Amino acid sequence: MRVIKSIDETLFIEFDDDNANTTISGVPAMFMSKKTMGSLIKGMIDALGEGVRPLLYTSGYNAGRKSAPVVIRQWDCKNLDETLNATTQQFARYGWLLLKDVTLSEDGREISCMVEKCFESQAYNGKSGTSICYFIEGFLCGYMEIVYNKENLVCEETTCQAKGDAACRFVIKPKFWEE
Ligand SMILES: [Zn+2]
Repeated sequence: MRVIKSIDETLFIEFDDDNANTTISGVPAMFMSKKTMGSLIKGMIDALGEGVRPLLYTSGYNAGRKSAPVVIRQWDCKNLDETLNATTQQFARYGWLLLKDVTLSEDGREISCMVEKCFESQAYNGKSGTSICYFIEGFLCGYMEIVYNKENLVCEETTCQAKGDAACRFVIKPKFWEE
């Protein structure tokens, strides 16, 4: 069986201090403390309420659609299993979240993702009243559209560690009802 590349040969960091440009495998990246990122997003939600969801969801969605082809190319993924394996390793290495499980329903319409330690949820210590991982909701939607070669999907977070659930669960399904 083919073995995908190791994470250390796939993701390598290069520094260009003269231009304030750090790249990971050629992709410009930026370091920020998890606490700062979490409080930035939490601050937006605290200030603007659920009205901020479309903004975070859409920026996540666009980022997810752009990221999937990069991951597939960098890891040289040949099939779905390899792509999900690479994705799981990369999410953890980037410090975003633990992708514990991805399941496609038997009818092939619904993708379910189980996530732990998502950076958005960690800022709440289980005390949020609602699911709040809006950026990741959008990101997983856009990302899985590419991975599963589907269009017009929508993602909803049904349980969330921010409100004390054991995991964040994201259900991705067709935006339009089909007969
Ligand atoms: Zn969550």
